Amino acid sequence: MEEKPFTTGSYKEFLESGRLMANRCRSCGDVHLPPRPICPRCGGRSLEWMEIQGRGTLQAFTVVHVPPIRLRGRQPYATGIVKLEGGPRISGLILDVKRGEDMNVGAEVEGVIVREEDGAKLCFRLV
Ligand SMILES: [Zn+2]
Repeated sequence: MEEKPFTTGSYKEFLESGRLMANRCRSCGDVHLPPRPICPRCGGRSLEWMEIQGRGTLQAFTVVHVPPIRLRGRQPYATGIVKLEGGPRISGLILDVKRGEDMNVGAEVEGVIVREEDGAKLCFRLV
């Protein structure tokens, strides 16, 4: 259906258009996000795009008080690792949370595509 190459560049182009796209291995069913040109599980090269919903559960998080330069001015902010429904794990900012006490591992989150100067990003928010 989608003919874009399975690269981070394509992933970002989809994000810019408001779609969260992963790829799936036709051989073993493994789902990759960001996409990979070769399946890391079985080495398969037969892949397909799939649109996924950004819902998942928080597996780990931290609240950052001393940010890298590109995020300066935003602290404190939370970042975490989310296991999405369907399998893949991805890290992202957790919006609207400034204290670790306000969230917990296992919390449900939903993906939000945020547009910034340097492009669209997948972030999360507690639900
Ligand atoms: Zn595979």
